[in-house]
Amino acid sequence: MKRERVAEDIFVFYSDTYAQAAAGIVLLPGGAIVIDTLPFPHETSEIVQFIRDHGIPGARFVINTHFHGDHTYGTCFFPDATVIAHRACRDALVKWGERRLAEAKVVTPSLQEVELRLPDVVFDDEMHLHVDGRNLLLTHLPGHTADSIGVLIEGDRVLFSGDAVMPVPYIPWGNRDQLRSSLSRVLTMRPEMIVQGHGDILLRGEIADAVESSISYLDNIKERVEEIIGRGGTEADLRKIDIETCGRSRIALDGLVCQLHQANLKALFRLHLQQRQQQGRVF
Ligand SMILES: [Zn+2]
Repeated sequence: MKRERVAEDIFVFYSDTYAQAAAGIVLLPGGAIVIDTLPFPHETSEIVQFIRDHGIPGARFVINTHFHGDHTYGTCFFPDATVIAHRACRDALVKWGERRLAEAKVVTPSLQEVELRLPDVVFDDEMHLHVDGRNLLLTHLPGHTADSIGVLIEGDRVLFSGDAVMPVPYIPWGNRDQLRSSLSRVLTMRPEMIVQGHGDILLRGEIADAVESSISYLDNIKERVEEIIGRGGTEADLRKIDIETCGRSRIALDGLVCQLHQANLKALFRLHLQQRQQQGRVF
């Protein structure tokens, strides 16, 4: 499994099998802080082993950046850790967690050992965590989902952005306008490095361009979808909107971004149509 060291005691692990999902570890003597886990049990087990190999007893905290399984399914492999997340993450897991996990196990038998683990500590806007001399700022960055958060390791200015920053913004579960504001917020946090929820790390010189181009992408898709709706087009017309004409590469995440892009367009199309119909009823 691919692993990168991003600071003295901060490491990032990547899933080989699912959309380059990333998990972070801060190795602290009193117990590690784990920021997201990996989709499959054998991948998270490697992280557990890595922590032990460094003579550290286990994880003291696991932070879930949002409720999606590709980030939370490994949480149960840190049974002694205190799990921290946004309040809406716990609510979503209480509401849908068991059912979604049962469905996932049918499709993906390698998830058999996974058990639902609910967050122990939740917050709304932001939270500060001070452990072994390290200061972490956990902050709400909604838009990919309502419960999305980012985790800034203050000394190193490494931001674990969860899926708020990705090779292509992804909104079918969330809200375009909120994601746009969250991306602006990311820039004001002045990170030196961003560990995206999926894909390669963004280094200092790449951050402004990458985040600003995500913001323009969100503007472009809105404009293009509105244009199609305005001229009475249908969902089939969305296929003609190429990701590159909206400002993002089509090769990232082994081409998966094109599917994510089409799902974004469809979600926006349906939302705008619904809003138009509602307005039509009012006036
Ligand atoms: Zn994800």
